[in-house]
Amino acid sequence: MTQNSADKSPVSLLGLGSMGTALARAWLAAGHPLTVWNRTPGRAEALAAEGAKAAESAAGAVAASGLVVVCLLDDDSVGAVLADADLAGKDLVNLTTTTPAQARARAAWAEERGARYLDGGIMAVPPMVGVPEAGGYVFYSGSRESFEFRRAALSVPVGAKYVGEDAGFAALYDVALLSAMYGMFAGAAHAFALVRREDVDPVAFAPLLADWLAAMARSVHGTAAQLRSGDYTEGVASPLAMQVAGTPTFLATAEQQGVSTELLLPYFELMRRRLETGSGEEGLTGVVDLLLR
Ligand code: NDP
Repeated sequence: MTQNSADKSPVSLLGLGSMGTALARAWLAAGHPLTVWNRTPGRAEALAAEGAKAAESAAGAVAASGLVVVCLLDDDSVGAVLADADLAGKDLVNLTTTTPAQARARAAWAEERGARYLDGGIMAVPPMVGVPEAGGYVFYSGSRESFEFRRAALSVPVGAKYVGEDAGFAALYDVALLSAMYGMFAGAAHAFALVRREDVDPVAFAPLLADWLAAMARSVHGTAAQLRSGDYTEGVASPLAMQVAGTPTFLATAEQQGVSTELLLPYFELMRRRLETGSGEEGLTGVVDLLLR
């Protein structure tokens, strides 16, 4: 582990699903010697025709490079694939989506086997890989030395953001961002449903919705400042009392449009509960505390 990580350091990649295949092509295009392995060999053969070396076994793929990347279905498949591999002296980078607890356990497992461990949470879909302007990146956490040593190679397919030595943090950040995304998807679904039965062109409506969501997304900075200071009334433009008073309008509009309120109601209920126990001069930050169990 003392050698310098040269620009074109060899990479071994295990797992050639849609994400693994996209990663493989990016490393090949950048000129990294690449060894690949996949449970179903056909996928490795396709990449071999493009310049990769197809290993005959997972252990053989691990042996081929100092940097070993796995991108498999889940944590169980990582354990199964690496069971017979000699990980001593390797930088093991696990890009498989897992929970923070699974990532921490996998880090301890890898360290017991003599590897430096990095966990990754991929904030990209396969078409964004190898396309820097698409803005995709991977959250990394775990061994700082390993990240610094392998940063150049890891930055080839998409950007690389290191978020701490706790191996669980990459998974935590990944799931936190994706959870917020599902909240946004839920809101967008409700908005489209509201206009769906009217003579409203969804394609004309979409830019209005996208611009509004982008403008409102900036509110997370105010929420963060309040969480840090503990003063939930700081800089509030839309007090909770006013917002709760407005919720019947949203529910009545849904009713009039023949749209279910099932996506809105849980959030409105949290707003109402916070108003009962907190201050009407606050914004919506108190909802964060209500979610903590
Ligand atoms: P795919 O379903 O396309 O590929 C799954 C891969 O895991 C295949 O290589 C498959 O091998 C392998 N695999 C599954 N089970 C086993 C097992 N028991 N033993 C050995 N190998 C196994 O998934 P993706 O490539 O899309 O995703 C891989 C990881 O990347 C996942 O954790 C996913 O959450 C994450 N990710 C994916 C994104 C996406 O948009 N695709 C976005 C962000 C993260 P085989 O070919 O033999 O079936």
